[in-house]
Amino acid sequence: MFLPPSDWQAIAPLETLHLDWLTRAGVDVAILRLDQIDPLISGNKWFKLTEHLNAANRAGAEGIISLGGAHSNHLHALAAAGQRFGFKTVGLLRGHAQDTPTVIDLREFGMQLHWLGYGGYRARHEPGFWLPWQTQYPTLHAVPEGGGGLPGALGCVQLKSQVQQQLSALGWRDHDGWWLACGTGTTLAGLVLAEAGEHPVYGALAVPDDHGVAQQVETIVCEAGLAEPLYELFDASRGGFAKVDPLLLAFIQQTEQQSGVPLEPLYTGKALLALKQHIESGRFAPGSRLIFIHTGGLQGRRGFAVSQ
Ligand SMILES: *Cc1c(COP(=O)(O)O)cnc(C)c1O
Repeated sequence: MFLPPSDWQAIAPLETLHLDWLTRAGVDVAILRLDQIDPLISGNKWFKLTEHLNAANRAGAEGIISLGGAHSNHLHALAAAGQRFGFKTVGLLRGHAQDTPTVIDLREFGMQLHWLGYGGYRARHEPGFWLPWQTQYPTLHAVPEGGGGLPGALGCVQLKSQVQQQLSALGWRDHDGWWLACGTGTTLAGLVLAEAGEHPVYGALAVPDDHGVAQQVETIVCEAGLAEPLYELFDASRGGFAKVDPLLLAFIQQTEQQSGVPLEPLYTGKALLALKQHIESGRFAPGSRLIFIHTGGLQGRRGFAVSQ
């Protein structure tokens, strides 16, 4: 069995975010640093994995097989956890063999890699996809791309209590909502479940195709039986997933200088810039208090020379 030892806990620090545009607007933002839970096992991907790991343990599996791209934050967190906690990991990768900083780490963490090409990777949702892999690795538990689905969302429910335990240290009694970057919407769905309507959850979409995300969130929320989910999704993709532009890069640089918080351009940078734009258009009244989730992803930015 391979659960983390009881002395290893993923606690994300909650900090006040100091930025001139927040001060001007009179809006308080606290940032939940999922990038700081561990030097290697970083970001929302760890939380999305926890219930999948529990399921694997219950099934008596020896490890995990999953999929992702050559910069995948998900595979990175999975491989790092496998090495740390002593379970086997196999990664099925999109495209053809290449050495990105992420891929080099994966191998160093002991993950066994298979490159599926692009066509082979596209077949991942087809009914028979897992069969040959299950034959090859009968003792491994399969986890969907990015650690998604209801188990992925359930692993993120704990973020609410992590914030509640730290609010008073900031001098806050309550807050007015959550703001975070969305890819599949799994992390957002976990917060929506945790809140059950108490606080709204605002999702800044890093992918342009909002329809897929809304549907994915609805599916998870329905499956969990939550009647009145409270969330909103906004396009924050700036023209497409992984598209970066000079304004975004300048914003990230300025933010890092002012606040000391590192961001990457695909998710957290876009989500915070979208928050700035919404605040400047008067979306949140002075005195509002928001929790911004730093979903991590800093390992992935090594693959983007433009952000360094
Ligand atoms: C994967 C990822 C997200 C998106 O998470 P979802 O649960 O798929 O919405 C956001 N930020 C970072 C840094 C990520 O790696």
